[in-house]
Formats: sequence, C-alpha cells, structure tokens
Amino acid sequence: MTDYNPDSVLIEHGIRPSRQRRAILKFIAEHPTHPTAEDVYQALYKKIKTLSRTTVYNTLRLFCSRGAAQMVTLEENEMRFDATTCPHGHFKCSCCGKIFDFFCDKTLAAASMQLPEGFSTNETQLYLRGVCKECNEQQSAVADCA
Ligand SMILES: [Zn+2]
Ligand SMILES: [Zn+2]
Repeated sequence: MTDYNPDSVLIEHGIRPSRQRRAILKFIAEHPTHPTAEDVYQALYKKIKTLSRTTVYNTLRLFCSRGAAQMVTLEENEMRFDATTCPHGHFKCSCCGKIFDFFCDKTLAAASMQLPEGFSTNETQLYLRGVCKECNEQQSAVADCA
C-alpha cells in the first residue's frame, strides 16, 4: 500500500479531507492488523494534539458509513476497523491474537448465492480461527498455545 493516497480515497467517498481524517485513514490503511478505535487513538494522539477518543471514533464511523473503511466485529464488544473494503475473509490466530486478511471473493460470492430465494445480503463476513504460520513454526519449540 505504498501508493495509498488517503486524500483521494476520502474525496472519492464524499468525505472532506482534514488533517485528522487523513491521519486516521492512513493509519488504518498502513496497519492491516484491524486496529480498534483505541489503537488508532493511542497511535496518533501524540502527533495530533487536538485529537480526542470521540473524534477518532466518530471519524471511523463516518468512514464506514461512506464505504471508505469497514467495520469488523469478530468478537462481541470489539469493533475493529479495516481500510480494505473489498470482500475478504479474516483469520484470527488464537495463539498471538493477530488478525490476518485472506482473499476469497469467489467463496464469499458463492456463499451469498446459497441463500434461500428472496433473501439479500448487505454484508458478508468469513471468519476463521486457528494458528498462524509463525505460531505453528514456533509451536514445535514451545507448546503452550491454548
Ligand atoms: Zn499467531
Ligand atoms: Zn480485513
């Protein structure tokens, strides 16, 4: 995502760019780890003195409502944000807790085709849990993953 331009993404989604909006969108785009609003706040408040938790939260909600980002709720009470808005699946490692993206648009499209007649979808999420490559490799040395 080296050529990710937050301004053009904002404008494209009808959002007026501001310093805070630009910084928040850039942060979630550059951190595809699906940060929470708190993660974003913690990362940016030192650089942007006027930033508040409420601003971060409201800005992220605005991005989601305009389609510039999407909200990912993998666990109850845990809202995460994702600048990758094309359909994709998520994998959470139960060992290190990291969340990875994987691309499976054909599977997602196929899943919505399986719906009974008359149903329509506005959100498709695929969520898998397991152990990531790195943890699997370490596990041969330390076997203490739940
Ligand atoms: Zn892991
Ligand atoms: Zn994602």
